[in-house]
Amino acid sequence: MTVIKLQDEMRKQFGNDCCHSAGPVTHQAGWIVVDQNTILQNGYVVVQDGLIAEIGKGKKISNNSVVDHGDGVILPGLVNAHTHLELCALKNRVKPENGFQSWVQELLAERDELEPETIQKESALGIEHLLSSGCIAAGDISTMGITKDLFIHSQLMGIWFQECLGNHSDTNLGCRKGPRQSISLAGHAPHTTSPELLGRLKTLTSKGKLPFSIHLAESREEAVFVASGKGEWADFLTERGIDFSFWGIGNNLTPIQYADQIGLLDSNTIAVHVIQSDENDFKILQKNGASVCLCLRSNHALHGELPDVPSMLKNRINLCLGTDSLASVDTLSVFDEMAFAANHFPEIPPADILEMATKNGAKALGLNGLAGTLVPGGIGSFIYLDLPADNVKQLMESIIHSAAQRTIHRIAV
Ligand SMILES: [Zn+2]
Repeated sequence: MTVIKLQDEMRKQFGNDCCHSAGPVTHQAGWIVVDQNTILQNGYVVVQDGLIAEIGKGKKISNNSVVDHGDGVILPGLVNAHTHLELCALKNRVKPENGFQSWVQELLAERDELEPETIQKESALGIEHLLSSGCIAAGDISTMGITKDLFIHSQLMGIWFQECLGNHSDTNLGCRKGPRQSISLAGHAPHTTSPELLGRLKTLTSKGKLPFSIHLAESREEAVFVASGKGEWADFLTERGIDFSFWGIGNNLTPIQYADQIGLLDSNTIAVHVIQSDENDFKILQKNGASVCLCLRSNHALHGELPDVPSMLKNRINLCLGTDSLASVDTLSVFDEMAFAANHFPEIPPADILEMATKNGAKALGLNGLAGTLVPGGIGSFIYLDLPADNVKQLMESIIHSAAQRTIHRIAV
């Protein structure tokens, strides 16, 4: 994948002042995807002071800087609502094909072997990979706390989540809300984390009006454990010396029912995965307004199963996309995630898949109005794809299916 930094091109074209001047810059292209349902042929986006000032059809008559990108498409930067940058160093070091529990054990052992410098270096490359593959915002989950500074000093918008698990947290738990980047908290999952700790994390994030993230209903092992308090996962926790006798599980609830019962689900919650779930669970998620982050390639690699995406769509759940980590997938590209979704769920319209990768992800990460759509007041950072098309249908198909192989120009003004 070739990445061209438009800023560099623009500096060459307009001089050093073009990218930081207060003067407006007009970006023209053959197509402008304002959002998944609003697509302009031959349009422009005007950016001033780092924000979108205007969007329109036709050629903008202007005395200011104009960049004509070509016949392709300008679209909102993508949102990767769930990844683990600190696991980038585990690429090709753990084997998803050996099953989930074996993968977890391998992952923990391999992670303990890594030097912090290696984790940092690979995490930084992961951020570059996200940006170069068209992503402008992410939800980064960190158990070790090692990626916080990298994330904060990067060009990514979104949330850095401190993730906790077990019975208590030794970490000083704090949240911080910012306009483009926030620090928040995540509970690992109901089969790894006590309800007391999950409740505490959720309360803290609610006070800060921030998203809370949790892996939910991912594996059969989790579902059996939450329903019965027994099974392979119970043995695994016991071996690791984790006392779950007071967790109050084993009441024949699904993971979603359990999360609802202990007060974790509301419109600021991102439930990640949601494979082991049924229609009743989807209704619970919808009623509470929770977002679901799909990590389909990871699910396929680790579990050989996929969530019931069409039913979740029918239930009008806010579905967004995440890649999970390089310990379970080959790339952090949301374009790859969209193509996988389209190939495995051909009945889902491309517009719905693009909405998951843009607007819905921005909503889940609290970036409504700033990212996910091209609107006045939104961030002046978006992408251009050299993807000519004859009509909207062809354009949307191309964005979903073949964009990952095309040149992605990141326009960051
Ligand atoms: Zn995850």
